[in-house]
Amino acid sequence: MTTTTLIPRDTLGRTLRDLRISVTDRCNFRCPYCMPAEVYGTRYKFLPKDELLSFEEITRLARIFLKLGVNKLRLTGGEPTVRANVEELVSMLAGLDDGPSVDAERRMDLTMTTNGFLLEQKAQALHDAGLRRITVSLDSLREDVFAKLNGRGYGPERVLRGIRKAEEVGLAPIKVNCVVVRGTNDGDIVDLARYFRGTGHIVRFIEFMDVGNLNGWKLDYVVPAREVVERISAAFPLEPAEPNYKGEVAERWRYVDGSGEIGVIASVTQPFCQDCTRARLSTDGKLITCLFATTGKDLRGPMRDGASDDELESLVRGVWTERTDRYSELRTALTEKPRKKIEMYYIGG
Ligand code: SAM
Ligand code: SF4
Ligand code: SF4
Repeated sequence: MTTTTLIPRDTLGRTLRDLRISVTDRCNFRCPYCMPAEVYGTRYKFLPKDELLSFEEITRLARIFLKLGVNKLRLTGGEPTVRANVEELVSMLAGLDDGPSVDAERRMDLTMTTNGFLLEQKAQALHDAGLRRITVSLDSLREDVFAKLNGRGYGPERVLRGIRKAEEVGLAPIKVNCVVVRGTNDGDIVDLARYFRGTGHIVRFIEFMDVGNLNGWKLDYVVPAREVVERISAAFPLEPAEPNYKGEVAERWRYVDGSGEIGVIASVTQPFCQDCTRARLSTDGKLITCLFATTGKDLRGPMRDGASDDELESLVRGVWTERTDRYSELRTALTEKPRKKIEMYYIGG
């Protein structure tokens, strides 16, 4: 079926294709680059339950976003698997794929980013509920380095079991996200590449970003994607591969010997704002149009005050058509950083 809705474009001509939904602000890890344990300790106050969007509210908003051109929904957080019964939400969202809002020619892509800690027990239910793909974060294969980077002292074995289970139930090929922090896990890049080479899974090395205000980010900690490619290529020769689609965040590189591919996400050294078609829905229902935003547009308030679908759609459309974001492109030119950026766990990575 076709839809007659006019697809909005922002001030730089970008459409809205990708919605990342943060389903919880809580997490069972304390990665120092995202939720440092010294800040998010036992006394930290997370959002009370009634402030979270309900599954019905998320689904209602997702339907509106699909109508406006979104064809990819990614559940994230915080850690999405710690939200109780998240598979019910997956099932509700998967149901939208056959709904009137989605163009039959472009099936909706429904995926999730997780730290994998609960994946061994959740993978089957997620798959059965309609999840088709999954991204698992894994920053190191070494006990001590991984323990440091999850802030909880856990080794990688449980996450690796989660990845194997996800593969077994049919969530493969799996994307494995690794945030590279110089001086902490940059020595693990080649090992990670070696481990997943030939499995069909794709490791994506992400430049450590200055999201939020609390992760102690410094440019010195960033390992440029170019260096990641050079280091891996020295061990296993790589050649560039074409992007799968316009606006793909990861730059693709494939092994010359045909044993698979890796990706690099160069958000700091080679910003890709001009193709950024992503919006984020925070745990409490704010629409955020840039990972580095200082504020978002509240959709929960109007929704709970009785706004109709048309009214909500016009709110989203208004925000998107006024969007000017290109923080990463401007980062180096900014003399004064935005005062209070939103934290990653709240808006979803
Ligand atoms: N908890 C889930 C996880 O870790 O996969 C989902 C949420 S997490 C915020 C989403 C992604 O953002 C993860 O792959 C994580 O490694 C990445 N991330 C978090 N903080 C980051 C930072 N400062 N720079 C780059 N990537 C970051
Ligand atoms: Fe939790 Fe993911 Fe943030 Fe790590 S990156 S603290 S796993 S939300
Ligand atoms: Fe998109 Fe903002 Fe990142 Fe640029 S800085 S790519 S606009 S999220």
